[in-house]
Amino acid sequence: MSLFSAVEMAPRDPILGLTEAFNADPRPNKVNLGVGVYYNEEGRIPLLRAVADVEKSRLEIQAPRGYLPVDGIAAYSTVVQKLLFGQNSSLLEEGRVVTAQSLGGTGALKVGADFLKRLLPDATVAISDPSWENHRALFQSAGYPVKNYRYYDASSHDVDRTGMLADLNELPPRSIVVLHACCHNPTGVDLAPEDWKKIIDVLKARDHVPFVDIAYQGFGDGIEEDALAVRLFAESGMSFVISSSFSKSFSLYGERVGAISLVTQNRDESARVLSQIKRVIRTNYSNPPIHGASIVSSVLNSSELRAIWEVELAEMRQRIHRIRLEMVRQLAAKGVQQDFSFVSRQRGMFSFSGLNIDQVDQLRNDYGVYIVGTGRICAAALNTRNLDYVTDAIVQVLGRQ
Ligand code: PLP
Repeated sequence: MSLFSAVEMAPRDPILGLTEAFNADPRPNKVNLGVGVYYNEEGRIPLLRAVADVEKSRLEIQAPRGYLPVDGIAAYSTVVQKLLFGQNSSLLEEGRVVTAQSLGGTGALKVGADFLKRLLPDATVAISDPSWENHRALFQSAGYPVKNYRYYDASSHDVDRTGMLADLNELPPRSIVVLHACCHNPTGVDLAPEDWKKIIDVLKARDHVPFVDIAYQGFGDGIEEDALAVRLFAESGMSFVISSSFSKSFSLYGERVGAISLVTQNRDESARVLSQIKRVIRTNYSNPPIHGASIVSSVLNSSELRAIWEVELAEMRQRIHRIRLEMVRQLAAKGVQQDFSFVSRQRGMFSFSGLNIDQVDQLRNDYGVYIVGTGRICAAALNTRNLDYVTDAIVQVLGRQ
């Protein structure tokens, strides 16, 4: 028997599988709404001008490529903290936040999960139902049992607030609760400020550990607005963990630019926590890459480039919002009885469309419109050229019932 003869095929990633099928589809008007990236009006992943400007000057400098420190570029961590907590956060002054550069938001989740596993080996992890599918896999691979808490209510296209609070209350004390700070993936349905306050009260009372995942800061209502959950947790006095990512907000998906930040109770704790985070990183991949994080820190440390980036980020956010409104308008104008106005209230790149698996299959087979089986649409993959075709297809499929 050969060494690898007993290795079983791992289950296919449903989203990557969808893209493979899409690429093999010969129909010229096919549309892939299964993706998890922002496309511009031309249907391409944009290279932001602020990013291109920094890259040009970096090329001219011809910088050497030594190893970074284990926790990454210090100037990068500082700008990450200011984006998350605000320019004048007292937590930063008190030395209560430690940040390490990570391989995207995914890397931050993995480092955080591995770190917590040493600290709380017997805890339960709870994720929203539904959640970004990798949340479950990541925490399971760190050795944790993963439960769901109720989140999405399909009938109201909104958060099941009562269910969520009840489930958080029923988790064993000191559970790790993964929360989407904004632009919930896959539903697009976010918590309101008053919901966050109630959730924080429950987490505090149950001694749970908040793990706040913020992968879309600036894609919802704005850079500061989208950080509300982080700011409220900061005010609460709790210790907590944050995974953040610039994949979307800088359109730097393949550069793997993220960060793990941990809020502690004091400077002394911070030093000890950082030393352990570094240990996790050191034994995983030693130290992070230079390119993406140096771009982000250069942009955010230059008032001129930062202003350009803020405009570009606002353009992405506003384009998604416009296309959502236009989708709702077209569906109504084309005679769809069902109320799709919830699509315009959702935030971020994704929309839980309410289309069922049969309808998703018909859209794919009959029209070449590819949607994830759950009905999740990437609104950021719609544009004024493909929207008419997509809404026509949806009208046809809905009309068959
Ligand atoms: N967290 C959530 C909720 C996401 O949707 C994603 C990406 O889709 C990530 C984390 C991971 O981001 P990154 O690509 O930076 O690893």
